[in-house]
Amino acid sequence: MALEKDIKDQLNQYLQLLEGDIVLKVSAGSDQTSSETIDLVNEIASMSDKISVREATLARTPSFSVNRVGEDTGVTFAGIPLGHEFTSLVLALLQVSGRAPKVDQSVIDQVKKIEGEYHFETYVSLSCHNCPDVVQALNMMSVLNPGITHTMIDGAAFKDEVESKNVMSVPAVYLNGEFFGGGRMTVEEILAKLGTGPDASELSNKDPFDVLVVGGGPAGASAAIYAARKGIRTGIVAERFGGQVMDTMAIENFISVKQTEGPKLAASLEEHVKEYDIDIMNLQRAKGIEKKDLFELELENGAVLKSKTVIVSTGARWRNVNVPGEQEFKNKGVAYCPHCDGPLFEGKDVAVIGGGNSGIEAAIDLAGIVKHVTVLEFMPELKADEVLQKRLYSLPNVTVHKNVQTKEITGDESVNGISFIDRETEEVKHVELQGVFVQIGLVPNTDWLDGVVERNRMGEIIVDKHGSTTVPGLFAAGDCTDSAYNQIIISMGSGATASLGAFDYLIRN
Ligand SMILES: Cc1cc2nc3c(=O)[nH]c(=O)nc-3n(C[C@H](O)[C@H](O)[C@H](O)COP(=O)(O)OP(=O)(O)OC[C@H]3O[C@@H](n4cnc5c(N)ncnc54)[C@H](O)[C@@H]3O)c2cc1C
Repeated sequence: MALEKDIKDQLNQYLQLLEGDIVLKVSAGSDQTSSETIDLVNEIASMSDKISVREATLARTPSFSVNRVGEDTGVTFAGIPLGHEFTSLVLALLQVSGRAPKVDQSVIDQVKKIEGEYHFETYVSLSCHNCPDVVQALNMMSVLNPGITHTMIDGAAFKDEVESKNVMSVPAVYLNGEFFGGGRMTVEEILAKLGTGPDASELSNKDPFDVLVVGGGPAGASAAIYAARKGIRTGIVAERFGGQVMDTMAIENFISVKQTEGPKLAASLEEHVKEYDIDIMNLQRAKGIEKKDLFELELENGAVLKSKTVIVSTGARWRNVNVPGEQEFKNKGVAYCPHCDGPLFEGKDVAVIGGGNSGIEAAIDLAGIVKHVTVLEFMPELKADEVLQKRLYSLPNVTVHKNVQTKEITGDESVNGISFIDRETEEVKHVELQGVFVQIGLVPNTDWLDGVVERNRMGEIIVDKHGSTTVPGLFAAGDCTDSAYNQIIISMGSGATASLGAFDYLIRN
């Protein structure tokens, strides 16, 4: 398998940046993926005299590891790291050669300090856009710390392993043989999961803020920047910096940027926030808020942060269908991200619950990968745009059931079917399948504000044109509010509004 010209050109450029010598150790057999692996490493080695190839016996065949001369770094690729993993390969080559990773020094110090043996394995699909972040974070940790190793495993090349571990959602990370976590994770999140983050007392000892933003999506980032630009003491608490944009690839309506990808936009948001004197408390979840002299925001880890004003911008999350089987089979056949998990259902039968734009887009996307897609829509008609419906109905392997209510997702070890009720005839039907993609919209992340502030029946915080809520000094912005539309640009605008509202409040009080 020869590399395509544009990939080879890119690789050539990156390989100019190699600092020290690298040894690629290859474990190969006589199968097709083995010969592709050998071709790939030989081709890479032929492009730089700093790279040599050696045969080896590694834990998996086919696979190859990227090492310094005389020192195994523990970075291994089982499968061909092209597709979305191409960047992971490039970064592994550069970092193993001695180039410093582009993360804060504090993160590097934290990784280096970890003691003990940590053997990570990540199952990926090459079309998963959430996987490279995890692969790159764990590779970087392996390069920095001799006690840490990491193997990326392409599920398509190791189907037996994926089946025996029952991996139905990627990325799926295992640590020392035990499931560690799924979904996109940043290096900071991995470190927090390993218990290396700041403790509660360190956070509680912080001086009170003038503006404390809760939520680090587009609304929160915008609110924090607007506040910091007023020269007031600003902090931002986020469970996961970036918010929903981290879950999307193609963004084409963020005006002035013709096309971008979610993770790229999230990285720019963080970079912009870091330009200012803003105290970022990432990977911290707010649990409750109380207004005393100052607002007191309680975090999940027990810390209490104080502030004169608070801007809530906690956004929204995927809505669950709340039927038996959904929680039980989450990541065991029940999925929410077709781009990430679709390839794991190759050749299988799946259902998509939801006939809106996201549901129908998911069904069209999945129909190209899986054997058959069953679409279930509660209403008598699909709500998706006409053009999407046309495309859907042109596909030979899709069945649409309208006016039906999902009753149960069935399964044993993993999903084996779905039952639904025909709302007209009340007849219960059952379809045997292996995957269910839930695409029925979003719910605001406001449960933690129960009884504190007025919300509408959907749970959205009610705000006025200044972003003020029913509690003086408490503001809200973005998808967690009753704004008519949920979009990045709208969230950013409302973040700015809430921040200016909070500043106004501060100067008047
Ligand atoms: C798949 C997908 C594709 C999309 N595509 C587009 C698109 O192309 N164009 C477009 O304009 N919009 C798109 N959107 C919508 C857009 O992403 C949202 O409107 C926008 O991200 C909302 O920003 P936000 O800051 O209000 O909330 P979010 O982005 O949801 O951010 C919420 C933040 O709050 C944090 N948080 C939540 N609860 C807590 C808590 N208790 N304590 C602390 N922090 C908390 C979260 O971790 C996160 O940092 C898409 C959404 C999805 C899901």
